[in-house]
Amino acid sequence: MTQLTPQPGIMDIALYQGGAAHVNGVSNVVKLSSNENPFGPSPRAIQAMQDAAATMHRYPSSDHGALRQAIGEVHGLEPEQIICGAGSDEIIAFLCQAYAGPGDEVLYTEHGFAMYRISALAAGATPVEVKERERVTDVDALLAGCTDRTRLVFIANPNNPTGTMISEAEVARLADGLPDGALLVLDGAYAEYVEGFDAGAAVMGARRNVFMTRTFSKIYGLGGARIGWGYGPREIINVLNRVRGPFNVSSTALAGAEASVRDVGYVGQCRAENAKWRAWLANALAELGVPSDVSSTNFILARFSSQAEAEACDLYLQAQGLIVRRVAGYNLPTALRITIGDEDACRRIAQGVKAFKEGQV
Ligand SMILES: *Cc1c(COP(=O)(O)O)cnc(C)c1O
Repeated sequence: MTQLTPQPGIMDIALYQGGAAHVNGVSNVVKLSSNENPFGPSPRAIQAMQDAAATMHRYPSSDHGALRQAIGEVHGLEPEQIICGAGSDEIIAFLCQAYAGPGDEVLYTEHGFAMYRISALAAGATPVEVKERERVTDVDALLAGCTDRTRLVFIANPNNPTGTMISEAEVARLADGLPDGALLVLDGAYAEYVEGFDAGAAVMGARRNVFMTRTFSKIYGLGGARIGWGYGPREIINVLNRVRGPFNVSSTALAGAEASVRDVGYVGQCRAENAKWRAWLANALAELGVPSDVSSTNFILARFSSQAEAEACDLYLQAQGLIVRRVAGYNLPTALRITIGDEDACRRIAQGVKAFKEGQV
């Protein structure tokens, strides 16, 4: 028998722990651990996916032309500069695979999304974590962290799990300060939750060193379909399309995503409902002595006085059937990330935290 050894870096990847979905012995469970849209996909997307199921014996489109066209129309973008993937996770992986290898550095922030590190290691590159300033992306720290080996700089704006975002001017300053040969990747997974926000498309403008990723997993409610997209300079799209498998996205996902992106009214309703209950919940928790930063996303990062208190509150909520997310793995041991559910879920969370706090004294 030969001894098979994985490539360097692979075994440094910790197995991903998804948000829990069940609590033993508790019914009426609400999952608020994966930033999913509580209202689900647009009814038009569900219909389109059902219709697409009838032709599942056919391979899907390999150029994703119809979806890229729809995205281009709705967002005012160039369809030729769009690439679709099995979730934006796959776009992140393509970027690392295409542009970062052994000896190259991939930057991300202290409380940045887990996939940046995972994809960097999977490509054999060196992940480099840079400090944030009070849970906000620090452009100066990122620029100071760059070297002549830096190839990719990932920031989510707004960020998960902090919920905070930086201004367009700050993003532009970051892009302009990067060394030659480095690409800024703006992860816009939560962009649709910010009214009127273009996720950095204007910053990209004529710049050749900025790329944007987007997803259908969050406000569009299609996490289970696995579809996302990237937007960038033509030469980068041309490179990524060589790494991408020809049938990386299913026909149902393509149909659901196209119907979703065109259902602008549904997105607006979800955004408004989220904003309303996010403000309500943040305020209710603050009054109970559990502060959070102003969130631009569909979750809040609730801060407790200690790791012990955060973990005890998590267990208490779990016993009530309320599943939220621990974020110690994101260097935030004293916090819990709570997805904004529907009105009932938000009221249950507020009641749960209140009862937990009362039980402590
Ligand atoms: C949820 C999320 C994604 C989306 O991942 P998909 O693969 O598209 O489901 C990307 N980036 C961040 C920061 C996220 O929170």
